[in-house]
Formats: sequence, C-alpha cells, structure tokens
Amino acid sequence: MRKPLIAGNWKMNKTVAQATELVEGLLAGLGQPQDREVLVCPPFTALHAVGRLVEGTPIMLGAQNLYPKDSGAYTGEISAPMLLEAGCSYVIVGHSERRGYFGETDEFINQKIKAALGAGLKTILCVGESRQQREAGQAESIVTKQVRGCLAGLTAEDMAGVVIAYEPIWAIGTGLTARPEDAEEMQACIRSLLGELFSEEVAEATRILYGGSVKPNNIDELMAQPDIDGALVGGASLEAQSFLRIIHFQ
Ligand code: PEP
Repeated sequence: MRKPLIAGNWKMNKTVAQATELVEGLLAGLGQPQDREVLVCPPFTALHAVGRLVEGTPIMLGAQNLYPKDSGAYTGEISAPMLLEAGCSYVIVGHSERRGYFGETDEFINQKIKAALGAGLKTILCVGESRQQREAGQAESIVTKQVRGCLAGLTAEDMAGVVIAYEPIWAIGTGLTARPEDAEEMQACIRSLLGELFSEEVAEATRILYGGSVKPNNIDELMAQPDIDGALVGGASLEAQSFLRIIHFQ
C-alpha cells in the first residue's frame, strides 16, 4: 500500500520568523497522523530553523532544489550533503519554475536525482505539460519524455527514493486545478510507464502526487482517485489552517 504524502512547497516565501510561526501553527493542529506523511519544503535560509522545530515530530523537512556536486566552486549553489546536515530527508527536483526560469533540462534534473539519491536524500520529481502542449494533444508524450529523461540510468532499487509529482504547468498558482479524472488519467499513464521502465513492483510502490492549485476545497476529490497518492501544494501550504485541512483530507 502506498502511504499518501502531502508536501508543501513554500517557494521563495517566509523569513525565519514567518517560517517558525507557520510550523508552530501546523504542529498545534497536526496530531499524530499514522496513515499519511507530511513534508514541508522551506527556502534554504529557513531549513536549519525549521529542521530544529520539526525534529521528533511527524513533519519531515525537504528542500526545493540542489546542485549535483558535493562541494566546490559553484557560487550560489547548495549540495545534497548540506541539505542532509540541515535535517532534510527530501528534495524537490525539476519543478516547472526551475525548468522555465532557469532553463533546467531533463538531463540536468537526472544528474540532480542521482546526486540526491547517492547522498541518501529522497527526491520529488516534478513533471507536467504546458497549456499549449495540452491543447495540442501532446500532454502524454511530453510527460512521458520528461519521466524517461529524468529517470534515465536509475535502477529499480533507486526508485525506492523517488516520488513523482504530476504538475500541469497551467494549473500551478493559477487557481485552475486539473479535473480529477484528467489528473487520474495522466497519473495512471505515468504508473504504467514505470512498469515498462522498471517493473510492476516499482509501478505499484511509487507514489505519484498531483500538484497544481490544490486547495482545501478540492483535495478530497483529488485524493479519491486511485492513482493520486498525495499532493504537492504551493500557495495553500503557506497558511497553517489551509495546509492542515489539506493534510487532513478525507
Ligand atoms: C507548486 O508550486 O508545486 C504548486 C503546485 O503550486 P500551487 O499549489 O500554488 O499551484
């Protein structure tokens, strides 16, 4: 059985003081969930502070990016060992904002996944098509190409450290959520691709999240889909009560 994962991507939001307030609010209302996992991904500057706050609690810590080298002359970059030291167990890779604004390719994302897994970090690999690509009927071929490229050279064992997030670009930060049946169709397609690339066991075991304007009022119907194993949440993870409602999906 795949345990649902609800992950908050805070993007470039929250000072340390604001991050502390948010995590304290989450801890106050979270309880001790056994049947789902909860992850927050603050900006780099708040990782250590949040890491200390969530230690020994059900909230896991993740980062939003990494560079695929352990150390060296890479000004402005952060490595997997540094993220581990801050208390991270996960790192997001391939977010559409990084692909779009920073020109990240599937090949570079593949290097990041290998560096993260090699250091002992789990990854959340984001894939998703643009509105134009969907309207042109290319959504499935684009997502398939991203999954193949980003997971190239990984073994079935490596896949134990990989979560995939299907995030249609047109749904991110726009308030336009994919219809649950459309998200389900793509997520089932990704799962069957994993069966082809690795094995049926990997396909069954890998968690595939949905991301794109997940809110308190749509999480329940999204989570009712058989191939949606959780959510990657941007805007609605920035406020404790809305993220708690998403975490506590029915
Ligand atoms: C995201 O950034 O991964 C995301 C899905 O954002 P939002 O929930 O704001 O659409």
